[in-house]
Amino acid sequence: MLELKKINKSYRTGDFNQQALKDVSLEFRKNEFVAILGPSGSGKTTLLNIIGGLDKYDSGNLIINNKSTKNFKEKDWDAYRNNCIGFIFQSYNLISHMDILSNVEMGMTLSGKKSKERLKKAKEVLNIVGLKDHLHKKPNQLSGGQMQRVAIARALANNPDIILADEPTGALDSKTSIQIMDLIKEIAKDKLVIMVTHNPTLAKQYANRIIEMKDGEIISDSNPINKETEAKENFKIGKTSMNILTALHLSLNNIRTKKGRTFLTALASSIGIIGIALILSLSNGFDKQIDIFEKNTLSALPIIISKQSMNLDEESMQKMQEEITSTDSYPDTSYITFTDNDMDKYVHTNKITTDFIDYIEKISEEDVIGINYIRTVGMNLFQKVDGKVKQIQTTNLNISSIPHTLSENSKGVIDERFDILKGRKPTTKEELLLEVDSKNQVSKDFLDLLGLTNEEKIDFDEIIGKEITLVFNDDYYTQLGNYFVPNKDLEQLYTNDNNLKLKIVGIIRLKEDYPSIASNPGLYYTNELLDYVISQNSKSAIVKRQKEEDNNVLTGELFDLNSEEGKLAKETILEYLGNESVPYGIQIHPVDFESKERIVNYLDEYNQNKKEEEKIAYIDQADLMSSLSSNIMDAITIVLIAFSSISLVVSCIMIGIIMYISVLERTKEIGILRSLGARKKDISRVFNAETFIIGITSGLLGIIIARLLLFPVNSLLKNLTDLENIAILNPLHAIILVSISVFLTLIGGAIPANLASKKDPVIALRTE
Ligand code: ADP
Ligand code: MG
Repeated sequence: MLELKKINKSYRTGDFNQQALKDVSLEFRKNEFVAILGPSGSGKTTLLNIIGGLDKYDSGNLIINNKSTKNFKEKDWDAYRNNCIGFIFQSYNLISHMDILSNVEMGMTLSGKKSKERLKKAKEVLNIVGLKDHLHKKPNQLSGGQMQRVAIARALANNPDIILADEPTGALDSKTSIQIMDLIKEIAKDKLVIMVTHNPTLAKQYANRIIEMKDGEIISDSNPINKETEAKENFKIGKTSMNILTALHLSLNNIRTKKGRTFLTALASSIGIIGIALILSLSNGFDKQIDIFEKNTLSALPIIISKQSMNLDEESMQKMQEEITSTDSYPDTSYITFTDNDMDKYVHTNKITTDFIDYIEKISEEDVIGINYIRTVGMNLFQKVDGKVKQIQTTNLNISSIPHTLSENSKGVIDERFDILKGRKPTTKEELLLEVDSKNQVSKDFLDLLGLTNEEKIDFDEIIGKEITLVFNDDYYTQLGNYFVPNKDLEQLYTNDNNLKLKIVGIIRLKEDYPSIASNPGLYYTNELLDYVISQNSKSAIVKRQKEEDNNVLTGELFDLNSEEGKLAKETILEYLGNESVPYGIQIHPVDFESKERIVNYLDEYNQNKKEEEKIAYIDQADLMSSLSSNIMDAITIVLIAFSSISLVVSCIMIGIIMYISVLERTKEIGILRSLGARKKDISRVFNAETFIIGITSGLLGIIIARLLLFPVNSLLKNLTDLENIAILNPLHAIILVSISVFLTLIGGAIPANLASKKDPVIALRTE
């Protein structure tokens, strides 16, 4: 049963209050054909909308099946509209981007009927209205009469008990009008049909009850209900539930009608994704390259342990950084104070002991290709230049021993990392190697010592075979009382039989794949030579004397042996003179990056449970270099991503605007869907589905374009760096980026979608 009790409805426009319905009371039978007549503006449409649950009454009551609708919730109204009511409008109100079959199916789709069932029923009702040959036409391919037939079919599809028709023939010619009226009469046989018309002739001809309205009031009713004699029958009300797939389907359909715009939108909003994807690919690739570079080449940098070392633990590093970057303001006092921030506290003095040397010698031999002990022992070297004997000042020259290997069979630093440009490796202690840098250069001091300064280009052949004379302490130093002086007669010194004639037998250069910072141009002598010099000189008179004396035997300077400095000074001069002692520094050459890690761990183990002053600080050059480079890479990546993110935000806003426009465009559709029983939730789902489609399209588009752009980017990089396929897009990053794109567009579309769902269905239907 359906009953209106003293229904009032008024509309406010500005200050003006328009009473559309005044105390309207009416009751309808379960099965009758009611025509409502009345002049324009008399409240007919308002009445119909209130009966259909599209509009809400201000006061009074609408009783459905003996139940007051005062306590109806949104979902009750939605279910009522969907199952119980079929609307037919003057302007047909078909969804233009869907074919007529889908239009008819819509109501059933909203109530969650299965697609097979929907199709069968839709075909059946389209057959009834005589449109079975036009199933796949779009509304704009039909005539007015045909469109109204589709609307009638749609109203019938869910088999509602009540059909509400608002001037269904208002836009049709008289011949078509009669056909439509016949159709409505036909369906009215077992339903309640309430039809608004301005045509009294049609009303009288077809309806079995005529109600007249004027100024919002009922002025006549040709067949009112007799409450006593007539039985009341109930209408059926089910439930609605649109699923997400339907929302996606609706949006896809809609998007198909504006492919160009959707594509451009997706393209525009994909720019941010493209940017980030490219940056990530590049930084990925560079990271990998750096990794490879590190593994291959940075391992060529030895681990350095020297007597005076930087304290490299985190705390001191941080303190040092703070002091360096301190921005304390300058004082304007007129006095000075003393500072307490001397760099000494960052310096760690390594006590290199024989125990530690033993520990070093026990490093796994597979991890080291060479160990170099740096000694400060002085060698007395002489060279004959232009017929004159000259002493070689070794202080400015880079002369060191060839790193020794820990086992007989391992190849050693020279074989592993150097190309022999000319000559060969030393086989006896008298033989030397000359290392040149990547440009085949050596310092001028070297050319000086070889007497080759006046030539611009020196042929390898000129260098190979060059001789240097080494003089031992006992020949070099002459004792004068308690003191020693260097022998002045250089010619005699030079020809002494005890001398060693050292000879350059090879020229070496670091292999091309190692970084040039690992090169160390200069002279290399063998360890055997070093051992021999130490064994000879440590027995020399000057060393014996110096050990006993508290004075420097060369300068006469007195050592203050009560102070650390004094002791150190005496030790230093003894070491210089060749007294065997622990080395000044150690350089460990690892086989590769992994072995470097193991060596570092091995050194850390040594420091465990040791007092601060007994710990050995080392410098892991490779680690310093690589953390520097990867830190810089990370910083650049973050900055670039931040920039690209701006375009993501812009596209998010853009999606918002575009969705807002879409909501405006589809207002009518929103009204239609609501009149068919769509819930607010369903409406927002439709728009969210649309943004979802745009988001996923733009994400995928972005990834595809970025992937394609990697080809030219990589070939450009190949030209620049000679490295192939640097930039690689990590699939995980791709997935994350697509998700971000979807997420951001959903955010952008959320407000418009919410707006759409809140639209008043009546107002929505009135928009054109
Ligand atoms: P009818 O269908 O009989 O022509 P309506 O029911 O559409 O009349 O309108 C009844 C009265 O209410 C009219 O005066 C109309 O201007 C007014 N009205 C209807 N809907 C609105 C609205 N949404 N806002 C303001 N006034 C409205
Ligand atoms: Mg009207």
